[in-house]
Amino acid sequence: MKNILLISVVFLFSCTSQKEENLLDTTTSTEEIPNTAYVMVLGIAQDASYPQMNCKKDCCKAAWNNPALQRTTSCIAIIDPTTNEQWIIDATPNIKEQLQLLKSKTGTEKVDGVLLTHAHMGHYTGLMHFGREVMGTNKVPVFAMPRMKSFLEENGPWSQLVELENISLKKLKSDSTINLNKNIRITPFLVPHRDEFSETVGYEILINNRSLIFIPDIDKWEKWETNITELIKKVDFAFLDATFYKNGELKRDMSEIPHPFVEESMELFSSLSDADKQKVHFIHFNHTNPLLIEESSAQKEVSEKGFNLAKEGQIIRF
Ligand SMILES: [Zn+2]
Ligand SMILES: [Zn+2]
Ligand SMILES: [Zn+2]
Repeated sequence: MKNILLISVVFLFSCTSQKEENLLDTTTSTEEIPNTAYVMVLGIAQDASYPQMNCKKDCCKAAWNNPALQRTTSCIAIIDPTTNEQWIIDATPNIKEQLQLLKSKTGTEKVDGVLLTHAHMGHYTGLMHFGREVMGTNKVPVFAMPRMKSFLEENGPWSQLVELENISLKKLKSDSTINLNKNIRITPFLVPHRDEFSETVGYEILINNRSLIFIPDIDKWEKWETNITELIKKVDFAFLDATFYKNGELKRDMSEIPHPFVEESMELFSSLSDADKQKVHFIHFNHTNPLLIEESSAQKEVSEKGFNLAKEGQIIRF
């Protein structure tokens, strides 16, 4: 009798774990991993991630109580399954969780290189995890523009990563293309931003003759000499700064921290064809941005107007 009871308990237990595995399977298999190089979104929030430290307002209330609503700082990975290599653009304060997300999809959290956009806290401070106190890595290639590179070389604690050769800095030049490997080409380009410690770049990634631009941070579009609307027509995917949804979102002078409001961007891009609008994926959402709230009227407005929102774990095929 005791044995039968034990067997039934074991059987019951294995049934539930089987069920859970199946559930997990269906969520991950909805998007199959490509067999050629691709991009994966690892984070979508502004530098401070979501919810934001100390925020007691409605924007963050639900997310404090529900980890499923929390979002990490904007970051994308470039993955080549044919060579088993993977790179990340920006080392965010959430790099630990983001590499776990990457591992859950690709089977490894190995990083073959980091490409940095600029020296604001959400975009490079994750480098600290490569240091002696954590991974103690050996010469992880870190690609940076000249001012960004000097900033890391000349200021602690980053200079220690350089001296101990935890990271190996590679100097980038704007508008100059590098080959990450034989399948992936990448080009940094300068964008206007509050450049206190470094210049700021966006990146164009070229795979299979298709291209993706990633611009997580930029001041107003009109401050950039490049015409963003024309650029969207030329590329295949555009991941663009969507820090704030609209003016008045912060109760402070928003001209001190200029970003294109999503409302302004949608107006600017309204002349694009439906196919071109579909290329736009908004990213880098501040905690106050209603695009972080599932089913919000802002989310509905963006999709009704024909644009997309970047999602964590999203896979972009080339
Ligand atoms: Zn940022
Ligand atoms: Zn908030
Ligand atoms: Zn910034």
